[in-house]
Amino acid sequence: MDIEIPRETLKTGHEMPKVGLGTWKLTGEDCLRAVPLALAMGYDQIDTADVYGNHREIAPALREVDRDSLWITSKVNRGSLRYDDVLATCEKNLEELGIDCLDLYLIHWPDPEAPMAETFRALGRLVDEGMTRAIGVSNFMVEHLTEALAVSEVPIVNNQIKFNPAHQPWEVVELCRENEIAVTAYSPLMHGDAPGHEVLREIARELERTPVQVALRWLLQQEMIVIPKATSEAHLRENLQILDWELSPEQDARIRALA
Ligand code: NAP
Repeated sequence: MDIEIPRETLKTGHEMPKVGLGTWKLTGEDCLRAVPLALAMGYDQIDTADVYGNHREIAPALREVDRDSLWITSKVNRGSLRYDDVLATCEKNLEELGIDCLDLYLIHWPDPEAPMAETFRALGRLVDEGMTRAIGVSNFMVEHLTEALAVSEVPIVNNQIKFNPAHQPWEVVELCRENEIAVTAYSPLMHGDAPGHEVLREIARELERTPVQVALRWLLQQEMIVIPKATSEAHLRENLQILDWELSPEQDARIRALA
């Protein structure tokens, strides 16, 4: 390991790494190769989900490292949010990953078909039974999060939402902040469009960085957790070089103005 990633203290006291590896569409041989490479480089957070279908390909890399040094997030999909389905899906996910306990288990998407209070009761049971250390949500906008906060008896520590220079839903971020909910920015590289983005390129030239690094650094400066997905060694490495420099307030404002 050649780098130490800072951590965010959640309202439960758990410490979540501020940079993680996203694994949507990272499957098969690519996944078997990229995950151990990332862990060896210093990544200590893996973001996955039941629907990504890659738990079994992530598992071998987890066996090679100290479990306590890693943060593993997975998600239960809409369609599996009734009480028994949540418990069964989490049990299956743990078996696939070859671990006893997740660090964070998220509701992947809100589902109007499943009563939210029932889903949160099931998530509370997962915490009580030691199947996950903490729980949270994903793709919860203001209306969903307001309902979740009203019905959940377990602390909601994280909301994973799409957030990047081209997509800035600040209203939900503000609600998260008011309720001490850490925000994870997904698709931080705009699904791979960051290198061609004009403003990011301009700021990258000024800082002698890359547009991808500017996007990730900007999100860290908005006090968000970032989970860029990368496959190649070069991309994995580039995406970690964002910890020891800063955008100026003026550069920060130029990206904010894209909202
Ligand atoms: P992303 O991280 O915004 O972009 C990934 C793309 O950027 C890939 O094509 C990758 O290529 C490319 N890339 C990575 N590093 C690069 C670099 N240094 N230079 C140039 N290109 C680079 O997209 P994402 O996968 O949508 O989002 C990230 C993670 O967020 C997901 O993997 C997933 O874990 C999570 N997510 C969650 C949800 C949700 O509903 N909760 C939805 C979407 C995503 P290579 O793979 O070829 O390196």
